[in-house]
Amino acid sequence: MRWTMPSDRVPEAWYNVVPDLPEPLQPPLHPGTREPVTPDLLTPLFPMALIGQEVSQENYIDIPGEVLDILRLWRPTPLVRARRLEQALQTPARIYYKDESVSPAGSHKPNTAVPQAFYNHAEGVRRLTTETGAGQWGSALAYACSLFGIECKVYMVRASYLQKPYRRVMIETWGGEVVASPVDEPEHPGSLGTAITDAVRDAGAREDSHYSLGSVLNHVLLHQTVIGQEAKEQLQMAGEERPDIVIGCCGGGSNLGGLSLPFVTDSRVELLAAEPSSCPTLTGGKFDYDFGDSAGVTPLLAMYTLGHEFVPPAIHAGGLRYHGDAPIICDLVKAGRMRAVAYPQTKVFDAAVQFARTQGPIPAPETAHAIRAAIDEAVRCREEGRERVILFGYSGHGLLDLQAYDDYLAGRLGEE
Ligand SMILES: *Cc1c(COP(=O)(O)O)cnc(C)c1O
Repeated sequence: MRWTMPSDRVPEAWYNVVPDLPEPLQPPLHPGTREPVTPDLLTPLFPMALIGQEVSQENYIDIPGEVLDILRLWRPTPLVRARRLEQALQTPARIYYKDESVSPAGSHKPNTAVPQAFYNHAEGVRRLTTETGAGQWGSALAYACSLFGIECKVYMVRASYLQKPYRRVMIETWGGEVVASPVDEPEHPGSLGTAITDAVRDAGAREDSHYSLGSVLNHVLLHQTVIGQEAKEQLQMAGEERPDIVIGCCGGGSNLGGLSLPFVTDSRVELLAAEPSSCPTLTGGKFDYDFGDSAGVTPLLAMYTLGHEFVPPAIHAGGLRYHGDAPIICDLVKAGRMRAVAYPQTKVFDAAVQFARTQGPIPAPETAHAIRAAIDEAVRCREEGRERVILFGYSGHGLLDLQAYDDYLAGRLGEE
């Protein structure tokens, strides 16, 4: 029921989907001139290696040995068959999940935090700034920075900073510094958009600092493709030729991309994004150029967006509260290669608790969106008598999100 691989089977190259996309990506635009961005706009914020990966047309990019050595501390992650969930659902479908919760930070995010810290360190950068919502990305980057001895400053959405202390403590344990965002408006609850503005301004103003983003950008999705490449091999170990459907939750698109992009060129594999109905970027947004942050300091990206000033309600899946999505994911949805569904919060927690009571692990609220979609698909298989192979991304554990479970179990959770 559980397929693991030895540490020497971590993929040695990342898969770059860009040359294989159904439609060419539209270039990011300069926030002022609206002309395609040139590298000189990005060099104050990112190392050359990552700028190169952002625009690369190569299908595979080698993973540096030093990065591989670190990924091998917890990778390959297990592929698990959710046999007890299948039995509870009485479905003929076979449900597998790829368990990214086993990383030090408890999610997929270190897969990109480590190479980002590595390339910055290699180019002499001594300090990284970033934003974080509930703290998953901030903690992953603080961990990665600690491995390379560089400073990490995290701008955390104020509402989470005040209500969710434990990931802040993780960041500090790994040596990072955390402040509440927006820094200049102490009454404002903050959003990912305001925190990105703070982090970009900080890095832009300091010679020794770069900025780091945990999702959305091409190089981030690239780094996450170790997930799908491993899953492909593990499914074969499990005796499956291929998944019929691959499902991931989508906040910015990095865990979904990491799992699903290695399957893009196989048209027999259906791809599905699950998002919250309170922040329905793919299912309710419009495809347009928009800023990545709330104040409009970042380049404009071609994506589905709810508008850069959109402030989503304070749902518990903090990692899915972003007004836009990765241009790569949006390209696939726009071209009809990937589908998207949106779920209200209570339906998501119904699925999370059903999973916990059958399989055991308690998922992150973000992850539970993918579980909801996987359960719905498995039920459809039962109704139609179809034996499909379902693969979903278990992006992280929910052991630091127990307040959300308490609210759900006590009936205090809003529909949103
Ligand atoms: C951050 C996070 C997400 C959402 O981010 P993506 O870039 O869409 O993957 C999902 N699940 C978990 C556990 C996260 O920490």
